[in-house]
Amino acid sequence: MPDVIAYGADWNPEQWPEEVWAEDVALMRRAGVNRVSVGIFSWSLLEPVEGVFEFDWLDRVLDLLAANGIRANLATPTAAPPPWFGDAYPEALPVDADGRRLQHGSRQGFCPSSPIYREKALRIAEQVAARYRDHPALALWHVHNEYGCHNARCYCDASAAAFRAWLRSRYRSLDALNDAWGTAFWSQHYSDWAQILPPRATPSFTNPGQQLDYRRFSSDALVELYVAERDLLRRLAPDVPATTNLMAGAHWNMDCWAFAAQVDVVSTDHYLVGSRPEPHVDLAFAADYARSLNGGRPWLLMEHSTSAVNWQPRNLAKAPGELRRNSLAHLARGADGIMFFQWRASRAGAEKWHSAMLPHAGTGTKIWREVEALGAELAGLAGVAGSTVTAEAAILLDHSSVWAQDHPAQPSSELDPVEEAKRWHAALWRAGITCDLAHPEGDLTGYRLVLVPQLYLVSDSGAANLAAFVRRGGVALVGPYSGIVDEHDRVRLGGYPGAWRELLGVSVEEFFPLDGPIRLASGARAGVWSEVARSTGAQVLDTYATGEPARTRNEWGEGAAHYLTTRLDAAALAGVLAEVCAEAGVEPVATTAPGVEVVRRSHADGRSFLFAINHTAEDAVVTLPDGGTVAVPAGDARVVPGR
Ligand SMILES: [Zn+2]
Repeated sequence: MPDVIAYGADWNPEQWPEEVWAEDVALMRRAGVNRVSVGIFSWSLLEPVEGVFEFDWLDRVLDLLAANGIRANLATPTAAPPPWFGDAYPEALPVDADGRRLQHGSRQGFCPSSPIYREKALRIAEQVAARYRDHPALALWHVHNEYGCHNARCYCDASAAAFRAWLRSRYRSLDALNDAWGTAFWSQHYSDWAQILPPRATPSFTNPGQQLDYRRFSSDALVELYVAERDLLRRLAPDVPATTNLMAGAHWNMDCWAFAAQVDVVSTDHYLVGSRPEPHVDLAFAADYARSLNGGRPWLLMEHSTSAVNWQPRNLAKAPGELRRNSLAHLARGADGIMFFQWRASRAGAEKWHSAMLPHAGTGTKIWREVEALGAELAGLAGVAGSTVTAEAAILLDHSSVWAQDHPAQPSSELDPVEEAKRWHAALWRAGITCDLAHPEGDLTGYRLVLVPQLYLVSDSGAANLAAFVRRGGVALVGPYSGIVDEHDRVRLGGYPGAWRELLGVSVEEFFPLDGPIRLASGARAGVWSEVARSTGAQVLDTYATGEPARTRNEWGEGAAHYLTTRLDAAALAGVLAEVCAEAGVEPVATTAPGVEVVRRSHADGRSFLFAINHTAEDAVVTLPDGGTVAVPAGDARVVPGR
């Protein structure tokens, strides 16, 4: 990556008369903007009538950027087909599980498996790429926009046919599919591939294997669409990198690991949810996820907001300084670009109440002053670009497991694997410990500690991967209801958790969801869930009132595997995490104060930057490993260079 932090926004000048454009670019320069994303929702203007292309206006937009030294993430506009598309090809519009065909007039109005959509999308993408591949403003292809945000799963006949083809290639025979899905039950045995449907509305629960495979198929369909566009762009412009903006940590409709494997650089969007108690801690989770998806390399924050968004029940404006703290938190966690939706707040349209870098009220505003100040600050932090964040702990997270657990027929609806992963991550955040997210089958060799808050489904190779990590000397902490089923959502027999019974030295007979809080023998508080377990070799560290194990530790090879059979409350969880971090030798970045975020980015040559971000209304002091201290006033942030 070049030695600069990308700074800017989506720029949608087509919303404005052309005389506004020059003012836009002049203000961008004033704010230190060096990168904008253009053309994202421009299909209906670039191809107003099918097969008729009008690029003059986009020529002038890109030329204006080039003349002002601002680089472009140039979009393929395929996320929002024009009205003519839905009129001409109604069969390519998406269908929901109840059989309703959704109409044009919004965005993402297409079926991901529609051959017609793919043909028309590739045609407009090719037009864009052929015209602009050598344009001096072009920095990066911004393919599509937020794949699967609204239309991730389509239930139409074309999708049904594509699902069957996907299943045939996965299972080869109907016998294998019937076995994987357990169709002997409820008279679901398939005798012909043509009988298989997407999990449309049914009288009762759909088959869990069918549901899980449909999630996988639907995610793969989106990845395929991305790859088709990317391959076209690579053919026409082999030296221009391509990405698509994920919604890592927010949307679970598609497998981000699968997408990450196909992009040249991971980019993601992140928006605070105002109803959450600590949205800046959620932000850290999403940023750590984005970095992990990019293999630890610097990534790009493609969108966040300067202030309020427009899609929550109550859209909170950001407090003074919050824009800066949010931006620096993404930077601290490995982003080499800080971008917003959008440059100039819309006057009309569905996102007119979404904040922007340039608000409706103009430049005499809090938002504009903070935007200008941030631009100057990021320019001063150019030396951060290219540095990386090292984490010695990782949380295992897998979309298949989340999807499988999402089936409504579960022992308890109160277990939420994503919330549990965020809760464990938050405990580390408070302790000043940087944490990656990792795929269960991913490379764990760089970590000292691997956490498994809740991984209901794990493949045989994922299960073996964790055992090998511990055998080599790693420390693992496994939470309840993990390692329960195989990759087809079939129970691993012989005592839970079948995937890791031997690794943990524990065997569980039965689950007992709880209807209120309990206290363990140690005094720790827990709730929601309990398991009737017995040790088959593990040391019992804590028990229920019945004397049965609530927490265990088992030595395995050179390492140790801890297990929790219940959901600890935040204080007890923090205590256990502190113990396993100490056992694994995982240290905090700095000794921090409550609500103060600490992260370090480092270059290979030893230059580093310690970020300390105070999210509270109290002044705080952070103590560095060398004994030095950094004062971080209330609501402020410090970036401390070091070696
Ligand atoms: Zn469809």
